[in-house]
Amino acid sequence: MTNQIVKTLTNESKDKAKEIAIIGGGLAGLTAAVYLARDGKKVTVIEKSSEFGGRARTTVKDKLYFNQGAHALYLDGIGPKILEEMNIKFSGKKVDAAKYFVTKKGKMYKVPIKLSQLFTTRLLNGLGSKIEVIGFFTKLNKLNLKELNSISFQGWLDKNFKNSDSKDFIKMLGRIATYTYNAENVSAGLALNQIKIAVNGGVIYIDKGWQTLVEQLVEIGKRNGVKYINGKSVVAIKQSYNADRQNTQPFWNISLSDNTSFEYHNIIIATNPSHVYSLLKDNALIDPAYLNQLEKINRPAKVATLDLALSGLSNPNVYGAYGMDNPFYLSLHSAFAKLSTDGNGILFHVMKYLDPSAKQDPVQDKAELEELLDMAQPGWRKMVLRQRFLPNMIASNTVININDGILESRPDVVVPGVDNLYIVGDWVGQEGMLADASFASAKAAALKILNKKKAIPIHAGTL
Ligand SMILES: Cc1cc2nc3c(=O)[nH]c(=O)nc-3n(C[C@H](O)[C@H](O)[C@H](O)COP(=O)(O)OP(=O)(O)OC[C@H]3O[C@@H](n4cnc5c(N)ncnc54)[C@H](O)[C@@H]3O)c2cc1C
Repeated sequence: MTNQIVKTLTNESKDKAKEIAIIGGGLAGLTAAVYLARDGKKVTVIEKSSEFGGRARTTVKDKLYFNQGAHALYLDGIGPKILEEMNIKFSGKKVDAAKYFVTKKGKMYKVPIKLSQLFTTRLLNGLGSKIEVIGFFTKLNKLNLKELNSISFQGWLDKNFKNSDSKDFIKMLGRIATYTYNAENVSAGLALNQIKIAVNGGVIYIDKGWQTLVEQLVEIGKRNGVKYINGKSVVAIKQSYNADRQNTQPFWNISLSDNTSFEYHNIIIATNPSHVYSLLKDNALIDPAYLNQLEKINRPAKVATLDLALSGLSNPNVYGAYGMDNPFYLSLHSAFAKLSTDGNGILFHVMKYLDPSAKQDPVQDKAELEELLDMAQPGWRKMVLRQRFLPNMIASNTVININDGILESRPDVVVPGVDNLYIVGDWVGQEGMLADASFASAKAAALKILNKKKAIPIHAGTL
């Protein structure tokens, strides 16, 4: 325990340590709080921003619900199951691709949804391409995805597709489903699982935005006694033990940005890899190899997003467009979710998946997003009611990478080397991606603290 502050506590001061602190009030932190609190634990959530929800926050402007970029809930993912367990309600229509297009070499082609359309589409050049894509959909549900976790999505594509159009088409599906620009940076297992989830179960856009999830999480937490602190950032944590480490409960001292500090027995950090690194880098009990992993895993998948409210649609036949030979996405979210207070709004999310190896140019990125709109909705500029450009959003806190031919993996929820410290988020654990990973890791960490393998389903009456 060298370099570790050793405090000898009297029983009285030891009792003052509170049960569990959760640092970060996004979906992951709020979910962990609900699981713990409904099991009787005393939980405090500390959020640096003035509002809870993190990247799942929705802002209401001009009667419209603006998510921070395009947010789709994968119905077959783990997220909806966990939301149901917590008795969180949501609604919204399943996205139907009938009015969606794929862009290739500056032209738009209808998304081939049916088998017959795959045979006839001019999007895929040559019979070979079409047969490869049809073969992919036939085999998708039979693939052993666990075996494909040690190879990159790009490696898998190169091995399985001879035709560039079919390869680009499946790569595009992977990009949309994972938000990962570079297919080298995601395991084939994860990418194919995301595609499978999207294809099998579909996605919905949530009525009134993802804030509806955030609000319910906080409400259920409050009903179960969770204490919420906002507007305060956690700047340091330190674990201390009674002199006799074996027989006593350790506690963590948390320092906040307003120079106050509190003691808790357990901490869940629900922020991001660089924040976790900064909190742990001076802790002598943490293995340098773990810190190294945190540094390496800090490789976010980013997007530039233009969130746009229009007064009308110049082209009512185009609800969406996905780039096949370029990293773009456009979708009319208000076609499938109630995203305006009066039920009449038109809201697009237009995104560019950013290349992590390229220098960012927000002006150019915005111009490219506008070009896509010119193609999909000519004359849109005259109909703009409100627009918001977010040039550098983190869609996922990590894209894993290949090192010496081996794909790195995401860290576990349990932080090794210290007691009672957990991490959660979209970069933690092996299950799912994006919000699914945040929900899954949050539940996993809560169950570890509760020492349970399975959660008891939460019913309306018990909360
Ligand atoms: C443009 C975009 C599109 C997306 N689309 C989808 C989608 O279609 N489907 C999907 O499933 N997911 C999507 N996501 C991802 C999804 O939003 C996230 O995975 C999810 O919201 C992450 O939740 P989280 O709680 O893990 O992290 P966050 O939301 O990042 O929450 C972390 C919280 O910690 C707080 N915090 C940070 N530092 C401190 C500190 N020092 N002290 C206290 N608090 C701190 C932050 O303020 C924040 O509130 C998208 C994200 C973006 C940006």
